[in-house]
Amino acid sequence: MMLKIKRVPTVVSNYQKEEAGDAPRTVGGCGRNCLKACCIQDAKLPLYAFKKINKVNGKDLAIDECQEELPLAFLDSLVLGEWEDRMQRGLFRYDVTACETKVIPGECGFIAQLNEGRHLKKRPTEFRVDKVLQPFDETKFNFTKVGQEEVLFQFEASEDGEIQFFPNAPIDVDNSPSFVAINVSPIEYGHVLLIPRIFERLPQRIDHESLLLALHMAAEAANPYFRLGYNSLGAFATINHLHFQAYYLAMPFPIEKAPTKKIATSNGGVKISKLLKYPVRGLVFEGGDTLEDLSKIVSDACISLQNNNIPYNVLISDCGTQVFLLPQCYAEKQALGEVDAELLDTQVNPAVWEISGHMVLKRKKDFDEASEANAWRLLAEVSLSEERFQEVNAIIFEAIELTEELDDNLQCPPKDDAVDSSTYSTVVTGSQECVVLQ
Ligand SMILES: [Zn+2]
Repeated sequence: MMLKIKRVPTVVSNYQKEEAGDAPRTVGGCGRNCLKACCIQDAKLPLYAFKKINKVNGKDLAIDECQEELPLAFLDSLVLGEWEDRMQRGLFRYDVTACETKVIPGECGFIAQLNEGRHLKKRPTEFRVDKVLQPFDETKFNFTKVGQEEVLFQFEASEDGEIQFFPNAPIDVDNSPSFVAINVSPIEYGHVLLIPRIFERLPQRIDHESLLLALHMAAEAANPYFRLGYNSLGAFATINHLHFQAYYLAMPFPIEKAPTKKIATSNGGVKISKLLKYPVRGLVFEGGDTLEDLSKIVSDACISLQNNNIPYNVLISDCGTQVFLLPQCYAEKQALGEVDAELLDTQVNPAVWEISGHMVLKRKKDFDEASEANAWRLLAEVSLSEERFQEVNAIIFEAIELTEELDDNLQCPPKDDAVDSSTYSTVVTGSQECVVLQ
């Protein structure tokens, strides 16, 4: 049996529209100024070459510290400058700065945004949700089909270890450049896509190199309000072409404020913790002696989830020093008809941003009635049960060759663990059985 869900796909590029409406720029080639052989030869794009910094500044960077410690925030201004330019040029489908946003009262501080423009004029499409790894399909929309005007710059490691910027660099297709492009359906200011090695046409799957690139981008932006996110297939990615998303949100995400419990430390000094008092069960990876240490362990964890067909989301925070890994099962439940009609009616797709606590709501009604209990109820549906989470953790820990530190060998879900059962007893899902580990 094949599991599918119907949803309105997010339009991330103007070239993804069902009918190409906009007048193409007339500049030789195919006339669309695209990224294919017809137009790419003489094309030039800015190129930002980052320094391969190894040292991660301090372990627990406070949210306002890292801006001061890393004075060079050139990437930050480049992203925003280029993004603003595309806004002036009218490339976005709506003005995200006009979307209403509020913090939902309560302990978690969930953030609600009313975004009525995001899913307009699109028919629901069927998505297969039971396969995390699917081969790249050239016939479907992919980022090589976007117009050059949607690309902001090329992003790569510098050859000589110094940061370099070239405002007009040729595009060396054979050298596998990575691109940063706008998302034409932004959910916040500066919403962009990082597309690693775009011309290699990689499917949506994390590998060591691409995750390291994403961490480098977070470190280079050096702005704690700039986070990157990743959705696997089956966890609300809609485009099967390797990409991360990123945007600015000038406040902490609820997931970043959730308490954690340390369960392991790697040889490279990466601390691994479990999220507590948060509706979605997940792991937090922090610090490490080098960016590579953090990247290696997180990508190994992601690869193990992919190989075991477990959908997941990733949030990269704190200037690239903190990564949240969240296996999820919402789309699967949805396909099996196990999700409440009331939740489905909201048409909220719990991808990385929603799971992190930034709820992008499509109906005025849901925005007006937004409450912590409602947000919690939705996210609790996304979470694996405690029992399944333990199984998935065992898979991850085997892959990263570490052992979970336990208080004792018998671990029962503590009362104050992921789901606060006293406040939200009606939404507790999953088994309460004890699981013997080791
Ligand atoms: Zn072309």
